Amino acid sequence: MDSPELFRQEAHKLVDWIADYYTGIEKYPVKSACKPGSVYAGIPETPPVEPEEMKKIFSDFESIIMPGITHWQNPSFFAYFPANTSFPSILAEMLSSALGAQCMKWETSPAATELEEAVMNWLKKMTGIPESFEGVIQDTASTATLCAILSAREKSTGFRINSEGLNNSSSMRVYCSSEAHSSVEKAVKIAGIGKNNLVKIGLDDSYRMKPALLEEAIRDDINKGLKPVCVVAALGTTGSTAVDPLDDIAAICQKHNVWLHVDAAFAGSALILPEYRWMTAGIEKADSLVFNPHKWLFTNFDCSAYFVKDSDSLINTFKLVPEYLKTQIPDHVNDYSNWGIQLGRRFRALKLWFVIRSFGLRGLQEKLRYHIAIAGELKLWIEEHPDFELLAPVLFNLVCFRFHPRDVDDPETLNRLNEQLLLAVNRTGKMYISHTRLRDVYTLRMVTSQTHVELRHVKQAWLLILEKALSIYNSSKS
Ligand SMILES: *Cc1c(COP(=O)(O)O)cnc(C)c1O
Repeated sequence: MDSPELFRQEAHKLVDWIADYYTGIEKYPVKSACKPGSVYAGIPETPPVEPEEMKKIFSDFESIIMPGITHWQNPSFFAYFPANTSFPSILAEMLSSALGAQCMKWETSPAATELEEAVMNWLKKMTGIPESFEGVIQDTASTATLCAILSAREKSTGFRINSEGLNNSSSMRVYCSSEAHSSVEKAVKIAGIGKNNLVKIGLDDSYRMKPALLEEAIRDDINKGLKPVCVVAALGTTGSTAVDPLDDIAAICQKHNVWLHVDAAFAGSALILPEYRWMTAGIEKADSLVFNPHKWLFTNFDCSAYFVKDSDSLINTFKLVPEYLKTQIPDHVNDYSNWGIQLGRRFRALKLWFVIRSFGLRGLQEKLRYHIAIAGELKLWIEEHPDFELLAPVLFNLVCFRFHPRDVDDPETLNRLNEQLLLAVNRTGKMYISHTRLRDVYTLRMVTSQTHVELRHVKQAWLLILEKALSIYNSSKS
């Protein structure tokens, strides 16, 4: 495969394959049904010594790999949160892969750095994130949250831990709600703060952090000689898309001089809709915010938008310039490798640029509003059904619910019925939903936000849920 001509032929075939894949994507089982070890067993123990033909490689891709793929781009993918693609995003990924540029510094591809600055500024204008914040693309929200917690740790200690390590430092404390994403705990562990110093704050009836409890926890800790360094507020928790009251939380953080990081990984995309801007009241008092265009803004995984108010504290936390990375370029250009953990960086701004231009702000808004509207339909069907119930407010397009037959009240039986229901609908291959536990109640989660999802897919899924629920109920009685 050394010649560009051969590449051209293979690439044309591949583009046709991709277009066919998207045309026929509903034929595939949404969730892969393959058994553990079955893909591995299809791969020879030893690598080939002689070159193999693309035809053979591709045919193995179809026969060995494809059965082990879960089709995240199937419109009936309702599980977790989506990792959406779109055609403009795929085209940009092809170009970025063709350029193969490693965009660690301005000099190693000025266009990558400057386009990143420009599209991050676009995102601020689209979402209402304050102009004074600066943006950088991270691989994932987990990484962005780790960067925020490390910056908070360093800023609060005068950047001492970076030089001296954690020896002799008083116990630092980080706060989030008990519904916050697990990446907060992971970051606290990696940052050397220790998960026992992550304080999980209690919730109100809608799964939002209670600011009064946060204030109390911070005061108690200060009285005990502990050092509050960071609060992570969630705009759209993973379990139920609850929105923590940012304004109240921000006031508490400001009073105690604690870094406030806002995790809006999924729901942050909704900030492009003016009707959701209420979520960010108080944002000017926050220190950082992350949201993932790779979830609900049709930009291929990975692309996480991290915004920080004081970029110096971020850069001071990470900057290192060894001799082999010194350049003659003046200081006023951004070297984004100093804005995060990795040195090497992919050209991610390109796909975001393609997506925003190809959809236009209006096109993106229409898609999001449609996704929210079809979730509203599902919510109505659940509310109207005597044997189903909603388990959390529906703020965006995640619907949390369960099957609750009117003559069953035992909590464990209900949990078991719903677990069976989840397995049964997913086993059909026609749809894929996931679950969580809200106050120990087994909760079905259905997110209507795949790029190409339509009302008919949601309707089809709902009918399937009803059918399977009935048969599980009947067999539980016999
Ligand atoms: C999905 C999610 C994350 C993790 O996102 P990654 O980009 O996969 O690291 C963090 N927080 C919330 C609220 C999420 O929904």
